[in-house]
Amino acid sequence: MTHPHDRALPRAVRLAMPMARDVLKEVAKLHGVCIRPIPLRRLDIVTGKSEIIDVPCGAVLDSKCPPCAKRNRQLRMAQCREGWHLDNEPTITPDEPNEEQRWLVEFRADMQARRDAAEEAGDDTTDLDAVLSGLDDEINAAGMRGSVTGSAVPKRTRSTRRRQDAPDLPKRKMTNTTLGRTFTSSDGKTYRPSLFVTLTLPSYGKVRDGVPIDPDTYDYRRAARDALHFSKLVDRFVQNLRRVAGYDVQYFAAVEPQKRLAPHLHMAIRGTLPRAEIKQIAAATYHQVWWPSTDHVRFDGDHLPVWQDGTGYLDPSTGEVLPTWDEALDALDEDAEPLHVLRFGEQVDVQGVLAGTPDADQCIRYLSKYLTKSIGETLDGGKAQREHAARMLDALRYEPCSPACPNWLRYGVQPKNAKAGMAPGRCRSKAHKPEHLGYAGRRVLVSRKWSNKTLAEHKQDRRTWVLEALGQADEPTDPHRYIWRSVPAGDANVPPLAMRLLRSVHERQRWRAHLRELEARAAGQELSAIRGEAA
Ligand SMILES: [Zn+2]
Ligand SMILES: [Zn+2]
Repeated sequence: MTHPHDRALPRAVRLAMPMARDVLKEVAKLHGVCIRPIPLRRLDIVTGKSEIIDVPCGAVLDSKCPPCAKRNRQLRMAQCREGWHLDNEPTITPDEPNEEQRWLVEFRADMQARRDAAEEAGDDTTDLDAVLSGLDDEINAAGMRGSVTGSAVPKRTRSTRRRQDAPDLPKRKMTNTTLGRTFTSSDGKTYRPSLFVTLTLPSYGKVRDGVPIDPDTYDYRRAARDALHFSKLVDRFVQNLRRVAGYDVQYFAAVEPQKRLAPHLHMAIRGTLPRAEIKQIAAATYHQVWWPSTDHVRFDGDHLPVWQDGTGYLDPSTGEVLPTWDEALDALDEDAEPLHVLRFGEQVDVQGVLAGTPDADQCIRYLSKYLTKSIGETLDGGKAQREHAARMLDALRYEPCSPACPNWLRYGVQPKNAKAGMAPGRCRSKAHKPEHLGYAGRRVLVSRKWSNKTLAEHKQDRRTWVLEALGQADEPTDPHRYIWRSVPAGDANVPPLAMRLLRSVHERQRWRAHLRELEARAAGQELSAIRGEAA
């Protein structure tokens, strides 16, 4: 691919560009500089100046951008540490949308438009989908979830009739605190014990080194459905945990891949409960999926429902209109079985952890260990594991991932928000992709009152620290001062990537050198102060 800029360059330089770009990516990684920066046009409405600014891509996966993934992991570790052993109730103030959040939302809208246009033109949208999902994570982290993904559609009354039964568990009176108990030792010292819990899914068949011993009897369908609905099982666990604990338990959890490619959960919990109770809660927790049945394949191969504008999907032979999603739900028999019931496996690990101990630090490292890897990134990459992943993907192919999944057409139901061009087996949602293997939810789950800060505020902390160290106070900027716009692909004002990377690395080096100089000067002052005292 040639960049418009490239054409203005001498042939020799032009030929050297791709090579220079690859070398520079390596250099950028060494310096912690984003290798896939997103150019944005920033218009300053005070000065009227417009310039192109590289914004880090913000990827959370190593495979996308190692420097951004590393930064994200460090931020998450800081966030986990901050809230785990709080000794004061966090004060939660709703965030005013700041400049960053505002442009994230605007930028997302632009990217969505570009993605839709690409799809219309039949182009590959993989990259744009990745950008969009990265942006969603950023926006969610910035606390703007409601305004972007929130829907005004009222909840179906039906769902209340199919309420999940409450499991049989002890129940304590609820107290209005998010802090756990403390203990005072005989020497008067106060201890604030907390928990580190690991929850796994059940066995689908014997495995060795993460690979089924007998693939033919391994329950791939169950594994697929468990992965698809895992986040809801986690929600249930938290509800039950709070009911039993009798206080507003806060947690910081990470969903990570097991070697057998199933998601599992590490959870730092503030406060403590008896180990046996945690195990009891895990054993009693389940989630029922009340979806239409998928036992009977109605449409397959060339025999697929056809779309009619204004009507929806029809049976190709009879012309009968297929039930809509809501109709299919209403038709569910009162005493029908749920499509799927999830439970945790027997393997529950509970560890008591004290604030500020090396144990706590180790748990935090453990908790964030695989955050930069996707669920599907096989841990050893061997042939047997690749085949295992392929079989898992196969099981997910026709499994509906959500009410809007085109796979519903296979079972004679119109997906929610059905539109033209849907076909079973061709759902574009993350859940069906090799890197997700069924689990398309968030990888980090943080309860609302975990700490006093959102991830965006942790980011802001770091920025303020650097600016202060450089002696440039972060003067408050008017949130309306800048207008951000995405830059069309191939915009001649965007220099070649190699050049932009080089610029960023250079900038990073300058900052580092400046910081080192400041540190040296501060150390020198301290030294002379000590000498002064000694004299
Ligand atoms: Zn990046
Ligand atoms: Zn789907």
